[in-house]
Amino acid sequence: MGKKNRSGFVVSIIRWVDSEAGGGGQPVDAANRVQWVRIVPFIFLHLMCLGVFWVGWSWVAVATAAALYLVRMFAITGFYHRYFSHKSFQTNRFWQFIFAVLGNSAVQRGPLWWASHHRHHHRFADTDEDPHSPVRHGFWWSHVGWLVSARHFPTRAPYVKDWRRFPELVWLNRFDTLVPFLLALKLYLLGRLLERYAPGLGTSGGQMLIWGFFISTTVLFHATVTINSLDHMVGRRRYATPDTSRNNALLAMITLGEGWHNNHHHYAISARQGFFWWEIDPTFYILKLMSALGIIWGLRPVPEHVRQPNAM
Ligand SMILES: [Zn+2]
Ligand SMILES: [Zn+2]
Repeated sequence: MGKKNRSGFVVSIIRWVDSEAGGGGQPVDAANRVQWVRIVPFIFLHLMCLGVFWVGWSWVAVATAAALYLVRMFAITGFYHRYFSHKSFQTNRFWQFIFAVLGNSAVQRGPLWWASHHRHHHRFADTDEDPHSPVRHGFWWSHVGWLVSARHFPTRAPYVKDWRRFPELVWLNRFDTLVPFLLALKLYLLGRLLERYAPGLGTSGGQMLIWGFFISTTVLFHATVTINSLDHMVGRRRYATPDTSRNNALLAMITLGEGWHNNHHHYAISARQGFFWWEIDPTFYILKLMSALGIIWGLRPVPEHVRQPNAM
């Protein structure tokens, strides 16, 4: 192993905790190549799901996994996507940070990283420049390949100039595995406490960790990225957008409303993605509730002339 390779190896490991170690910009080797050392934690996340064969299951562990799936899916769709990527509503700096942390706990990297690549996707959707187009680069590339390749690890800084003025977000974006690590640790400790003080629940530290963190997070990850892969392949197209986005009710269900992706590419700035009452969009319902409570405001609507097919 040459000196350059060795330092690259060490930097890849440091980036497990400090995503900007060795400089946060575009790497010299910005090829579409899988960075195996860098993604060891991501592979570990998947392998740990097999721990279920050792720890077994209990209702409390499965319910924790489901609850963390739903809460974190909302943080991704409502905030990483509709707020940080599209500014489809407003909030204050406090709630902005709280939901950035919650989104970060979903292990989909930092809010600036997520928003910058997503904005890039909208700008170049289904062209060769699109980081995750299944029609250009195939299903697996759009689903997970792009995300583990050297070219797509750095945050695309020019796309998130608006967020870079918040030091707390820049910090969170840099140390993007800290919050997930703390969540995993808390789940383990909670399981230990329940094991000791509520033995009737039949759970344990290991079980709460495997279900609450590893299984919940892995399922959440794959559900989210179906929007990049399947939702550009399977479903109906109401609007003749220049990309191949689709509306898919099943994907909308598992992603709390993101499956109305053709609607979304047609008019991305709206807080709602289900444009008609029968297009179920749980994220939007929760956002409405939060706006009634005064936590967020200024939800951007879908104008009637935009909503009608063949408009725009
Ligand atoms: Zn898309
Ligand atoms: Zn979007």
